[in-house]
Amino acid sequence: MAVRFASVFLGAALALSASPLFAADAKPSVVIYATGGTIAGSSASSTDTTDYDAGKLGIETLIKAVPELSQVATVTGEQLANMPSQDMDQKTLLKLSKMINEKFKDPAVHGVVVTHGTDTLEETAFFLDLTVNSKKPVVIVGAMRPATAVGADGPMNLLEAVSLAANDKANGRGTMVVLNDRISSAFYATKTNSTTPDTFRAAEQGYLGGFVGITPRFYYSPAIPTGKMSFDVSKEESLPKVVILYSYQDQDSALLDAAIKDGAKGIVIAGMGNGSIPTRTKATVKKLMEQGIPVIRSTRTGSGFVSKKEEGIGSGFFSPQKSRILLSLALASGADMAAIERYFGMVE
Ligand code: GLU
Repeated sequence: MAVRFASVFLGAALALSASPLFAADAKPSVVIYATGGTIAGSSASSTDTTDYDAGKLGIETLIKAVPELSQVATVTGEQLANMPSQDMDQKTLLKLSKMINEKFKDPAVHGVVVTHGTDTLEETAFFLDLTVNSKKPVVIVGAMRPATAVGADGPMNLLEAVSLAANDKANGRGTMVVLNDRISSAFYATKTNSTTPDTFRAAEQGYLGGFVGITPRFYYSPAIPTGKMSFDVSKEESLPKVVILYSYQDQDSALLDAAIKDGAKGIVIAGMGNGSIPTRTKATVKKLMEQGIPVIRSTRTGSGFVSKKEEGIGSGFFSPQKSRILLSLALASGADMAAIERYFGMVE
């Protein structure tokens, strides 16, 4: 009886959808930009989840593997790159951001999905969050198991990412990261585990929402992170070089000097605790700041706020890798030291 009811109901629904009155039932249009990573990874062995090749399968293959995409969106794919994300670079980031800004001018496009390796996904996500100027959703997605593995997570992650990018409730939330049935803010999320599918988290800020089935469910209405900044990169061809140095006992100033000799226009230090650096390095940091070379003091702890210090600039909630992206964008925009301090202070 239930089955019969279902088929009658389905017949009625199909008849309705054939009517021109219901032409508006076309699915929202979502563009997928593919860049590579494990989600496009391949191995000869179905149990290989560590030594496979990332960035092997093309976007058409990824889309064909998930015919269910057509249930949530009208999808088109563009292959921007096919690389492991440790090779992602500022040239590709600038190109991607410009392409998305351009694509969003088309009123027919509802949202964008970017497929990406997870290793540096958070950097690209943060870059897009700061440079895409639209309320339309940008969703960045990866996988921890290659497409050839038993229990590959890529197909479901991709389906959820497209479902999110097609959903009106995703508007006005900036760039979002989708993996493992969870939605994170690109502003805060970071990779926390080298191999497991539940790797993306924001220790203090948590998740924005998750998926019930393949439908996104948000915990709160759209919100903008406190002190969120944005940059126009439409005219940028390259970005100033910023390097990251890791702090440890016995560290001295040699690599700070070497970085400047190598052309760095700014430095991020993954400091200890609340951005501490060895006393013997402080004079060099002070000298660089006086020369107009910003030195950001972040933390190697993985979470927490780095407050303002005498020498250098505290990184606020930004990890060393996010600090590098932010400082590079700030320098490209011509920000002076005071503006850079304001960005990292995360004050509204
Ligand atoms: N190292 C590769 C990359 O980031 C694999 C990691 C992944 O995609 O999960 O592209």
